[in-house]
Amino acid sequence: MSGDIASFSGLAELNAYRRKLLDLHLIGVDPEGIGFGNLSVREGATKNFYITGSGTGGISELILANCAKVVAHDFERNQVRYEGSAMPSSESLTHAAIYQSDPTAGAVIHCHNSKLWAALLNQAPTTSKAAEYGTPEMAYEIMQLFTRTDAQSRKIVVTAGHEGGILTFGRDLEETFAVLMHERKKIYP
Ligand SMILES: [Zn+2]
Repeated sequence: MSGDIASFSGLAELNAYRRKLLDLHLIGVDPEGIGFGNLSVREGATKNFYITGSGTGGISELILANCAKVVAHDFERNQVRYEGSAMPSSESLTHAAIYQSDPTAGAVIHCHNSKLWAALLNQAPTTSKAAEYGTPEMAYEIMQLFTRTDAQSRKIVVTAGHEGGILTFGRDLEETFAVLMHERKKIYP
């Protein structure tokens, strides 16, 4: 787990979408100075994914040292195995649950916006209030949403127990971002 991950082709695109999200304050730094929001992209057709490091929400341009590659996960033990010098986002298990549930998903965006969250709560597939972010419970609930709701086709999940939290996904970052913008336009036309 020492040393940066090897360069990956999606980093420039990841930064491009992060900039858009930062401009819209969908990721960033909260009033307490804590970074929020994270992005991930699947490594080709594997089960691995690259994810932004813990606490990098406020950084304008990420370098490899700010990213980790998650190569295994264990929902029960609440653990991920990763490569790279950055600690993967504490919400990595949540991303893993989406990649595992939807083999066509190639990217995940997790952002925060109270107004959008409030509007989507229980209107889009929503995890229960009892499930807190980054927990096995959250991962299990997300996997259940894929079997019980239209999460797969709507490509969005709202987290009732993680205030302001929204996840979108798609085959790539372009689609994942477009899903988010589609919902956002209803609130901020
Ligand atoms: Zn969050």
